[in-house]
Amino acid sequence: MNSPHSEILKCKFCGNEKENELILAEEKQLGMGDKFEYFVCSNCQCIQIKKVPEDLGKYYPANYYSYQEPTFPSRLNWLNFFIKKSLILYYLGYLNLTGFLTSFVFDHPFPWLRKKEVKLDSKILDIGTGAGRKILSLQRSGFNNITGIDPFLEKDIKADGGLKILKRDLYEIHEKFDFIMLHHSLEHMPDQEEAIRHIGTILNDNGRVLIRIPVANTFAWKKYRENWIGLDAPRHLYIHSVKSLGILTERTDLEIEEVVFDSGTYQFTGSEKYLRNLPLSTSDDIFSKEEMKKFEKDALDLNKKNDGDQACFYLKKRAR
Ligand SMILES: [Zn+2]
Repeated sequence: MNSPHSEILKCKFCGNEKENELILAEEKQLGMGDKFEYFVCSNCQCIQIKKVPEDLGKYYPANYYSYQEPTFPSRLNWLNFFIKKSLILYYLGYLNLTGFLTSFVFDHPFPWLRKKEVKLDSKILDIGTGAGRKILSLQRSGFNNITGIDPFLEKDIKADGGLKILKRDLYEIHEKFDFIMLHHSLEHMPDQEEAIRHIGTILNDNGRVLIRIPVANTFAWKKYRENWIGLDAPRHLYIHSVKSLGILTERTDLEIEEVVFDSGTYQFTGSEKYLRNLPLSTSDDIFSKEEMKKFEKDALDLNKKNDGDQACFYLKKRAR
């Protein structure tokens, strides 16, 4: 219900103006405490910032976690890495004895990387790669054609052995790729429709796009609201529901092929810290073993019910 002094809040994606709820969200990750107006669309449930701040840069300080130079793998964790690499190869369908044996104990290190979408020689683009930790790990696992881009890097980090980590804006990229991934970067973009349109132009016809994002209208949002870790004001500008991302992609050449929920314990541990007014850096030791087990179980159960607080959206070109 619109109160007499309320202004019109129009959903950027479905256009709905009725009964959109205004909320006040605080910057909590860095503990800056600045407050931002968001609203929740009553039709498509997308949670959106009312006005994108002009000084967004100040909420991404130089030591923001994704920009730390990768130093992986160090000597200490090479065994760890060897096992990880073997598991990735095994789960992608390559013959790998270590991977086969360790698969009885360990899950796929990157479950979003599936053999039906990628091979070792697939041409891969990672948009919003930060310092490229994830793609460095993929390159060391045998992928030989990976590019990561991030406009906020200070400079290009490296370009060798089939891996490029470049300071580039998405719109500067015009060559085509087989697999384009966005790991928790779409929600940071002010121009999502334009971004997805452009991605459609640089995707090979049989290629796939993977978009991993926090998902609105799910259990953790309903339980924690302004303390939900997925809100992350003001960095997360538009947080989609499955419905609102569908509405957005309908206007582009891409369509959603499959949605796989992949939320974890963080939806509880992170949100609980905010709820209890603790800094995000607080150790998880504040939770008992039983609590942590319950968080793990609840996350798995929520994922099965498509109600976890984050998901992988696999997109393909729309059939014409
Ligand atoms: Zn809407």
